Amino acid sequence: MNKVFFAGKKVLVMGLGRFAGGVDAAKFAYKAGAKVKVTDLALPQRLSESLEKLKDLKKIEYQLGSHETEDFSQTDIVIVNPAVEPENKFLEVARENNKFITSAISIFFQLCPAVIVGITGSNGKSTTAALAAHLLSSGEGKDNFRHRKVWLSGNIGNEPLLGNLEKIETEDVLVLELSSFQLEQLEQAKEAPGVSLLTNLAPNHLDRHKTFEKYCAAKDNIFKLQKLDENKPAISIFNKEDEISLQWFEKYSGQAGRICLGFSAGDVRGEFVKEFTLPGRANLSNLAGAITIAEYFGITEEQILNCLESFETLPHRLELISHSSGISWYNDSIATTPESSIAALEAFDAPIVLIAGGYDKGLSFEKLAVKISEKTRAVILIGQTAKKIAEAIERHPSIELIIEFADSLADAVRTAKNLAASGDMVLLSPACASYDMFDNFQQRGQEFVKLVRQIND
Ligand code: ADP
Repeated sequence: MNKVFFAGKKVLVMGLGRFAGGVDAAKFAYKAGAKVKVTDLALPQRLSESLEKLKDLKKIEYQLGSHETEDFSQTDIVIVNPAVEPENKFLEVARENNKFITSAISIFFQLCPAVIVGITGSNGKSTTAALAAHLLSSGEGKDNFRHRKVWLSGNIGNEPLLGNLEKIETEDVLVLELSSFQLEQLEQAKEAPGVSLLTNLAPNHLDRHKTFEKYCAAKDNIFKLQKLDENKPAISIFNKEDEISLQWFEKYSGQAGRICLGFSAGDVRGEFVKEFTLPGRANLSNLAGAITIAEYFGITEEQILNCLESFETLPHRLELISHSSGISWYNDSIATTPESSIAALEAFDAPIVLIAGGYDKGLSFEKLAVKISEKTRAVILIGQTAKKIAEAIERHPSIELIIEFADSLADAVRTAKNLAASGDMVLLSPACASYDMFDNFQQRGQEFVKLVRQIND
């Protein structure tokens, strides 16, 4: 595949969305000379931000508010948003009509000239990816690092994937955070990163993948689809402290054309731990993964040590936002799974007032309930899953634990302020996605920061 492949073709972008993905795909196809049509089930009002970003591309056609069968039978190429299920009936129409079905991530892998470092897992992807890119960047311009420039992209921030393609050169390294949906899509392209890392695996996104096995199978593509070439082996990196990651380490070890590397939080050297500013053992695990990548690329211990301190927490990840009347307020809105909230609770020793709950992805809250009973003084529950979490906590009761329900995040912040005493911390770590009340976790986090500042003014 090359850019010419799209010239003059009819391209249907399925799923514009409110995140950057659909915009990136539409812009890419348009600039490659395709006749672009964008279709989305949502009405224009809900897509206004994305539509605004495309407004200068005058010839794009739109089919919004519904998908139409003819669009799928009459196009040449469909670029599918990762949020669309592969079994979608309109995709069936495209398949029956022998249309070429692809995705932004597949196009990217086919066209990207640089080495790709892919990071996936249920928790810790963004932190590990950002850390790896940070450590690798310390080698830019140095003799021991053979690459020109390090890029960080994927699910992180708003960096467009395809939009940056022209700037990426053969001698660059690209660190990509990859979701299970994107990895599922890579099956079509039969592509995977040259260097792949799995942080950990626990049930997530079961509303979409249906079973844990199918979710794992999507994640496994990051290794399964790697090219096994004895002259240029695939690098596969696993977390030895995670049950499934360790199983896969054993499964893949010893294959010709593949080098398997393992890491664990416990292996991180004392000097590194001292310089590292992120709280909690989970973040040490992320650091261990990032160091494994950096060392593979020849970054020296000294270079790692010198740049560790300057790594800043990504927003919405265990972010200290206010310290007032002896109470510390932390925003961990990114915690959209029970495991990530467990990791957050484990990172602190102070008495915790936790705000949790949100959109129901069909996950179990039993382990989280145990951790809540162990570590928190009070829990304030919001959103769709409030009742489900409360029921789980009641199965693991702790005598002193206060459980409250709140109708909104504002209500939860007020309740937290009333319950917290000097020396406590208030932690928003919802264990759930935000879609029942917000557009995304960023909006939830920003709202929390605003409310906390208001109440403490
Ligand atoms: P992801 O990109 O996979 O969502 P992030 O790096 O953005 O993960 O971290 C999200 C949240 O998950 C963090 O705030 C933290 O509470 C928790 N977390 C981070 N790393 C890990 C890990 N290795 N294991 C479990 N939980 C983690």
